[in-house]
Amino acid sequence: KPVVLSGCQPSGQLTLGNYLGAIKQWVQMQQTHECLYMIVDLHAITVRQNPQDLHQACLDGLALYLACGVNPDESAIFMQSHVPEHAQLGWVLNCYTQMGELNRMTQFKDKAQKNQSNVNVGLYAYPVLQAADILLYQANEVPVGQDQKQHLELTRDIATRFNNIYGDVFTLPEPCIPKNGARVMSLQDPDKKMSKSDTNPNNVIGLLEDTKKLTKKIKRAVTDSDEEANIFFDIEKKAGVSNLLSLLSATGGESIEALVPQYEDKMYGHLKKDVAEAVVALINPIQEEYSRIRSDQAYLSDVMHKGSAKAREKASDTLSRVYKALGFITSV
Ligand code: ATP
Ligand code: MG
Repeated sequence: KPVVLSGCQPSGQLTLGNYLGAIKQWVQMQQTHECLYMIVDLHAITVRQNPQDLHQACLDGLALYLACGVNPDESAIFMQSHVPEHAQLGWVLNCYTQMGELNRMTQFKDKAQKNQSNVNVGLYAYPVLQAADILLYQANEVPVGQDQKQHLELTRDIATRFNNIYGDVFTLPEPCIPKNGARVMSLQDPDKKMSKSDTNPNNVIGLLEDTKKLTKKIKRAVTDSDEEANIFFDIEKKAGVSNLLSLLSATGGESIEALVPQYEDKMYGHLKKDVAEAVVALINPIQEEYSRIRSDQAYLSDVMHKGSAKAREKASDTLSRVYKALGFITSV
């Protein structure tokens, strides 16, 4: 079976963007792939986190994966920091990545811009650790949102460079970006993507938020920058409306082409109401499952424990191949 690897940062509450861009695909791929899904706690500390909040976010994220349908009997579900090989391979790959390559990463530029008082080396090397995550498991496919495409290309470049020097050590991964929901936009600022670490809660649809509050937020979403109150899909001219149409399509299942004619004589309010209903219908059962799972600490520990044991088997195998290839002394 082809191998799949993906993860989310416990840098806040998971959003509808994380679900539609990544987690929804994870669930579908379980039947046909060998899947590994992690909470990337090592990545999350590239931005300063409050320890109590981080701790909770790790457990909340894990419970949410399960509530969304990630199945611990099929997939390895684990905390990145429980598999030390991520940090170990990350270091090695730092030495095979050029600063010029990292200087081009748009996520680094965005995050450095947003948080100018803490532009740390870890934030800069974030994509290298991500490459280590993926290459450690010889992953064939990486289900992610559109924003991660550039990091996947870098991962392939690093792997190719390493393989050219040392032989076929790493499998080259392919990104797996969904047709619908690959880039959910911020509700108040539809020119930028929805992000769980956004400091304005009105921009974000959190998977654990009260559904009445969510409905209000969606109804207040920014829709217009021109005078025509028509509903059509045009990301440049109608960023907000296009985002709502994308959301409705990704949550309800109808294509955007099929949706647009249904709103020919309708107002923005109609569209917003339908989006809110579709989002609530999707989120409600996830929240019910979540509250059942989240309180069962023993079960969550068991899932993490089994997940990291399974992951380590593969990870340690790749790391020893890498160490051998480099010339390190691997047996004493
Ligand atoms: P942060 O603001 O801390 O970076 P985030 O919301 O960007 O949080 P990540 O943990 O960085 O979430 O990414 C987890 C996964 O969710 C990745 O596969 C990413 O591509 C996907 N993703 C993130 N935001 C969106 C979005 N707005 N639309 C679709 N997919 C998204
Ligand atoms: Mg992100």
